[in-house]
Amino acid sequence: MDLIIKQFENIKSLINNSNVKIVAVSKTFSYDYIEPLVKHKHVHFGENKVQEAKSKWHDIKKNNPHINLHMIGKLQSNKAKEAVNLFEYIHTLDSEKLANLLAKFEKAANKKIKYFIQVNVGSEKQKSGIGIEMLDDFYYYCIKELNIDVIGLMAIPPNDGNQSIHFKNLMELNKSLGLKELSIGMSGDFQEALKYEATFVRIGSSIFGNRV
Ligand SMILES: *Cc1c(COP(=O)(O)O)cnc(C)c1O
Repeated sequence: MDLIIKQFENIKSLINNSNVKIVAVSKTFSYDYIEPLVKHKHVHFGENKVQEAKSKWHDIKKNNPHINLHMIGKLQSNKAKEAVNLFEYIHTLDSEKLANLLAKFEKAANKKIKYFIQVNVGSEKQKSGIGIEMLDDFYYYCIKELNIDVIGLMAIPPNDGNQSIHFKNLMELNKSLGLKELSIGMSGDFQEALKYEATFVRIGSSIFGNRV
């Protein structure tokens, strides 16, 4: 497991910017793999399924209250309540219906989640995310009507060789809304994302190895 620390430190040195947070994406990996990083005092971890995250992290978070858990996968409405209880950040806010529910559950739980709005930056039919043409309206709905804490935009751009164009587009949208945080970049493209002012990069396989 020393290897995981070594790989994590390697990513950190490549990023070389203390303003950029590494979300260590631990989906599919058991706690044996994650523990070294928790002991290493790493704070930000990402999961993409509520059920898996709950079984893995519920107890660990009790003993390590400084940990920030990030939901980075598609969030179904029927899991919104559990998500509010479990996560500190949700990167995949992608519909009014979901936003309404999350706002309601936040209030009930007396907890403030930090949100990224997921943008369908490549206008892909099969992908979730708010369309660029709807983004302004959706953002103002979230902050004015629901009063939830949207801190930035997030995207998983299509693998069409135009990553830098999508990242640039997203950086500009983020700025136009006056948002401070930007969740872009994974193992394969985080260095590109850093050129476009990513502040949260979501790194899985380059830290934990290939998922099976
Ligand atoms: C799995 C996943 C990641 C991490 O991907 P790697 O290529 O393993 O770094 C990042 N973001 C999202 C949304 C993911 O689902």
